[in-house]
Amino acid sequence: MNVKINIAIDGHSSCGKSTLGKAIAKKFGMRYIDTGAMYRAITFFCFEHKIIKDGEVDLRKLKLQLPNLNVSFRFNATSQESETILNGKNVELEIRSHKVSSFVSIISQIKAVREKLVVLQREIGKEKSVVMDGRDIGTKVFPNAELKFFITANAEIRAKRRFDEMDKTKVSLQQVLDNLSERDEKDTNREINPLKIAEDAIVIDNSDLLQEEQNNLIFEIIKKKIESYN
Ligand code: C5P
Repeated sequence: MNVKINIAIDGHSSCGKSTLGKAIAKKFGMRYIDTGAMYRAITFFCFEHKIIKDGEVDLRKLKLQLPNLNVSFRFNATSQESETILNGKNVELEIRSHKVSSFVSIISQIKAVREKLVVLQREIGKEKSVVMDGRDIGTKVFPNAELKFFITANAEIRAKRRFDEMDKTKVSLQQVLDNLSERDEKDTNREINPLKIAEDAIVIDNSDLLQEEQNNLIFEIIKKKIESYN
């Protein structure tokens, strides 16, 4: 691809943003960045270092540790997937646990955490050709992104899809639904960089769309955008 653009994907929890981001990256030869993984890695770090204790965040301790905390991504050639690296250690599996999911929206409300990650995300995107998914990509991280999508779907449908990918001995459908509803609520109502639809975003509700249908629809929009620069 000669034309270099950045694509922002925002939206509610568990509506397939990362699957979509990976598909776009593959199709158009772009780099995919999962910013949720970065917030999850910090949350995992907080549990590991007892910064979260008895359901409370020790803000002083977190702020002291933040400068030494490094989150990056490494491409695994075997699985053909990007893995999240926290201070040199692969934490891709650990950050997907229910424990991390249940606390990540509290950690992501913290100003110092957001400031650190937004700087990192902008640095990654400055060479362009990046497709990034999250909650504030089109509104805060890349307000000038060439294309912005806002993805949503009915909460029950999202919970069922996510539950079907999970180890059903560890979590119930109700727990998954409660978790994503709670995250949506916190992400939408937080003070700093809340989840909202950017004015120039294209909204896609995929409740009744097959993954392939959604991808084809979005691929066409991207193709047209790229052609418009040629
Ligand atoms: O994308 P994912 O569901 O893995 O994100 C986990 C959480 O990280 C979200 O519920 C949200 O609290 C936080 N997040 C955020 N801003 C982003 C990406 C994720 O606040 N750009």
